[in-house]
Amino acid sequence: MNNNNYNVISIVDSLVNITSHTEKNVLEKSLLIALNELVPTTSIRLFKVQKSADKHEISLLAFSANGVVSSSQSSQQAHIVSDELSRAFAAIGQHGGIESIPNAGNSAWQIIYPTFDINNDIFMILVQRCEKPTAQDQQTVHGIFKVYANHLALIEKTQRDKLTGLFNRETLDDEITKILVNDCDDLLSVNLHDARRSSGAACNWLGVIDIDHFKRINDDFGHLYGDEVLILTSRLMTSGCIRDDDLVYRYGGEEFVVLLKASTEQDALNAFERLRLIVADHEFPQVGNVTISIGFVEITNQQTPSDVIGEADGALYYAKHNGRNQTQSYHQLVDDGELVVAEHVASSDVELF
Ligand code: GH3
Ligand code: MG
Ligand code: MG
Repeated sequence: MNNNNYNVISIVDSLVNITSHTEKNVLEKSLLIALNELVPTTSIRLFKVQKSADKHEISLLAFSANGVVSSSQSSQQAHIVSDELSRAFAAIGQHGGIESIPNAGNSAWQIIYPTFDINNDIFMILVQRCEKPTAQDQQTVHGIFKVYANHLALIEKTQRDKLTGLFNRETLDDEITKILVNDCDDLLSVNLHDARRSSGAACNWLGVIDIDHFKRINDDFGHLYGDEVLILTSRLMTSGCIRDDDLVYRYGGEEFVVLLKASTEQDALNAFERLRLIVADHEFPQVGNVTISIGFVEITNQQTPSDVIGEADGALYYAKHNGRNQTQSYHQLVDDGELVVAEHVASSDVELF
């Protein structure tokens, strides 16, 4: 591979390996492992790029240094890019290719490889620190990076709802399962969970959200207006989520799920109430006011994703039958004796037919 003696088989093998994965963290790691094997490099970092106002922000997704490859497990804080990187982004915007920045004081270089989204904005960058690689090395790295990005875009497309662009229901179970496993119900983690709560660290909350009297909107204004309300409600809720790692899903027709982090039940209630009020205060074109009802629960020691959703649904059901346009907490309703704790039946105990 070195000295431009490319081994086509190892490149093909690494592409086969990268595109065999569908889990983002695994995919990121397999990209960096492949590049590490193919090109001599001091370090490679993979960043997500976002534009806020006219500034670019980057957050680290994964890195490889001294043979160690690591993927950021949770979303990393975004940083506004340095002036130097800003200049590199401007140049990349012009020519659409690779940018090289020499390191002051030594012979190392930082090579910046971009990929673009459908709007032609920089979507991710790979930053390779190394002795300056040959043009052929650079093309190889960029090519593999672009295959990875295409593969990722395809995966993300299958995870999105076509109408609203929100995550779809299929990805929700995986996300809840990840949280439940992290928080899993063995002896140790019960303590970990309590420790997390008492240290004020964020816990995970799930809210099921349903538009009130949505059928009337369809009946009175037509299906197209109904669709428009779904799109606008999705946008309002997404913009109302303050944390980068809060997630909004379209769960079904006019039902949504929001996963968010909050330290206390009161904080979670405030966050869901904020979403409810943003929608209630919005004047929808033609349709006027639209309200939503929300039931929420902490994701903690339930056994399955459907147990979690079932509990939040119980609180939503209560909201629907007690006036709509309100947020109800499953735990609060159980404490108040308004809801009975659901008996979760282990799937192995279920007798089919
Ligand atoms: P509630 O307050 O009890 O939730 O009443 P609702 O009218 O919102 O609930 P209901 O379940 O009776 O009606 C939901 C309606 O949502 C029925 C269905 O035709 C409509 N719907 C489901 N998916 C879509 C969609 O993608 N677009 C449009 N326009 N309507 C949809
Ligand atoms: Mg409804
Ligand atoms: Mg519904």
